[in-house]
Amino acid sequence: MNDELVILGSGGGRHHIRTQYRATGGIIYKFNDIQAHIDPGPGAIVRINQFQEDPLKTELFIVTHTHVDHYNDLSAIIESSREILHDRNYNYYKKGTLITTNGMIQYIFDYHINMLENIVRFKAGNTYNYKGVEIIGTKTVHSPKNEGFGIRFKLKDYSLAFTSDTMVYDGFSEEFSGVNILVLNLLRPDSKVCKRHLCTDEVIPFLNKIDPPLNSLIITHFGSYMDSPRSTKNYVPSQVKKFQESSNIKNIVAAEDGLKIKIRELLK
Ligand SMILES: [Zn+2]
Ligand SMILES: [Zn+2]
Repeated sequence: MNDELVILGSGGGRHHIRTQYRATGGIIYKFNDIQAHIDPGPGAIVRINQFQEDPLKTELFIVTHTHVDHYNDLSAIIESSREILHDRNYNYYKKGTLITTNGMIQYIFDYHINMLENIVRFKAGNTYNYKGVEIIGTKTVHSPKNEGFGIRFKLKDYSLAFTSDTMVYDGFSEEFSGVNILVLNLLRPDSKVCKRHLCTDEVIPFLNKIDPPLNSLIITHFGSYMDSPRSTKNYVPSQVKKFQESSNIKNIVAAEDGLKIKIRELLK
């Protein structure tokens, strides 16, 4: 099994959009020889090249909600997923599937919409079968103004989920029951509560209630209070230690820009 995650951006929120202290390019998820790009925020097209990944291989595009750190480079990523745009008669080649919210579609030019084979209007609770892999929308509690979803992939040998931006909520643990690997958008450290997002102390009790326990937790989408010049110190190592000591999860990984992680390492 060669499945892999590539972190094109471990930062989230408007300060990282501006400073790029942590990149905001989203995540590439490779499974069953399929390349998916999840939440291609600002700089995604730069990072995919910087970290020597191939944009031509992307065939599944997922945008979990209409915040700019999640969708900004989507059109560039769609256009870069093909070498030739159209034939001599300007018939555009169609390639790829976009899974996103109903509200997101209006922000994409028809020009790019027409390049896609499938557009899947998606929300929490929906299920979509992509080439034999079940993709499930998980609940998020984030922005009251725009809808979003987390996303869970059910493969033959394992299950992996991305929380997207969310707070914890009743039923959070059940949403990820049966998941082996969880990619958690963790904006803030310790008990530094952030409206609409998560901090470490809030989420640990919910993680510990996931049954059976996760094999691996990847923390990412850090906000500027985690370790940037706006932060008093680098909180990332102490958060990893806290998850190791206070949770029932075997492997804790802190995302870094450009980090490539083989799924088989996360299933141990
Ligand atoms: Zn975000
Ligand atoms: Zn957001």
